[in-house]
Amino acid sequence: MIPPIARRFVAGESVPAALDHARAANEDDIAVILNLLGEHYDDRADARADTDAYLALLDDIADSGLDACVSVKPSQIGMDVSADLFEEHYREIVARADELDAFVWCDMEDADTTDATLDAFESIAADYPWSVGQCVQSNLKRTADDLDRLVDVPGKLRLVKGAYDEGSSIAYTDKADVDAAYRDDLRLLFERRDRGVAVGSHDPEMISLADRLAREHGTEYEVQMLMGVREDAQRDLAAQGVDVYQYAPYGDKWLSYFYRRVRERKENLTFAARAVLGR
Ligand code: FAD
Repeated sequence: MIPPIARRFVAGESVPAALDHARAANEDDIAVILNLLGEHYDDRADARADTDAYLALLDDIADSGLDACVSVKPSQIGMDVSADLFEEHYREIVARADELDAFVWCDMEDADTTDATLDAFESIAADYPWSVGQCVQSNLKRTADDLDRLVDVPGKLRLVKGAYDEGSSIAYTDKADVDAAYRDDLRLLFERRDRGVAVGSHDPEMISLADRLAREHGTEYEVQMLMGVREDAQRDLAAQGVDVYQYAPYGDKWLSYFYRRVRERKENLTFAARAVLGR
């Protein structure tokens, strides 16, 4: 059982619990991105099992009528076995989503996997336009060039600052530089796209910038935040008419995810403790 302190960040251990969470979020006009916790499988059978779990989850979402989609991690569906296996599974999941009029996101992991992930996204989006979206990380120095290549691909793009520690030869390591790159990447996306921009950030400054850029360029966009982080802001934005998506992980591998949230921001532990203690 997930202890109450971690429950703030994780939708539950089972699919029914995840769908219940999505139902509650939908009541606040917040759509949900469900992620089955799991990563770095070097065994083909594990990658296959999570691929099958996502196929079944897409069916369940379609049956439920909920405003929800899924997000997969490359190393969860085969990247650590081979890039080909990853692409095969990624394609299969998006094909099912396309049939069901559902949607699949792909997270971005460490920089060794960026090329294979973007190549797969480009090819799959060409076959299943607007059924798939890809995360890109502004901390990587290559991202401005990647966006130049990706702006015309028929899939959504989720811009995040980047959660992986990368070397200074390929990544901005200073927070101010990452923030500056994020602003530049947002400007590029809003200037050159008329739809399909996802702002994956809790940063009030970046969300205000996105709002300004959307008014200026008429671009359709959404804001994405994690479950358990700035949920008041998620509700406020949704009430103002912004498309808000909450990324909600579920599954029995919740422990390392919870530790990551706490490591990222120690106050999360205090917030979670307060929520549990009702103070
Ligand atoms: P930060 O730069 O960390 O903080 C900026 C400001 O935001 C803070 O000053 C504060 O005002 C506010 N803030 C941030 N966190 C909190 C908090 N916990 N509580 C209260 N206020 C807060 N990374 C990847 O590398 N690959 C992915 O696939 C990926 N997918 C993601 C999907 C979603 C939906 C989101 C939201 C993030 C994802 N990330 C991913 C993580 C991302 O790269 C960042 O590490 C993470 O979002 C922190 O950066 P930030 O822009 O939210 O704000």
